Amino acid sequence: MSCSKPPLYIAIALLLVLLVQTPVATAQQRTTVQGQIQQQATVTSRLSSPDVILLRLKTRNNLPLNITTPEVQVQQADFLNAATNGQSILITTGLLNRLKTDDQLAFVLSHELAHVALNHIQKTQMRRVGLTLLDQVVVNRVLPQGTVGGLLGDVGLSLLDKRFSRNVEFQADDLGMQLHTKAGYNPEAAIQVFRILQAASPNRMPEFLQSHPISDSRIRMLVQKYKLAY
Ligand SMILES: [Zn+2]
Repeated sequence: MSCSKPPLYIAIALLLVLLVQTPVATAQQRTTVQGQIQQQATVTSRLSSPDVILLRLKTRNNLPLNITTPEVQVQQADFLNAATNGQSILITTGLLNRLKTDDQLAFVLSHELAHVALNHIQKTQMRRVGLTLLDQVVVNRVLPQGTVGGLLGDVGLSLLDKRFSRNVEFQADDLGMQLHTKAGYNPEAAIQVFRILQAASPNRMPEFLQSHPISDSRIRMLVQKYKLAY
């Protein structure tokens, strides 16, 4: 029996040490873990540079590097859009802030790159073609007049009838998807981008979405052709 006492003292001493130290240790650990999580969240929510993604799209598809100017221009604007004038690609912060993955950003850029590769600017005589919805109604409703410097808002839609502009968008989605996939990006991201556009739109223009379900038809085309999950 006498030999059981020393372990008991040791056990009590250890327990006291643990009781005193454990909360401190846990608090420290918690702080560290929280810090790591916050850091991870910051890192994972940050997208790669659009320029890096554009370069990957070009090189993996053997496109000439000068097919557009090397830089993607980011424009401060709340609305969601991307566009190209044939020389450069523009994307709004409104869209950029809603994209969650490089794959999604890559699809936006692939779509614009496809417009350039397909010579849409010259063919349509449009000054710019965009990603979201090529419709004057949207342009007029969403954009505060005179605030966008004519970049993304002024898409020259009056030159086109809607059916033709829709065909142009289908073509850019189609080739864009091929460029995107060949560069090793997840094809499902294309659908995710359209979902993001759809989710952002209803509060602003429910009427428009009812009468111009362009995104839905664009999603269906990609889903059917590329066997994606709807
Ligand atoms: Zn487009």
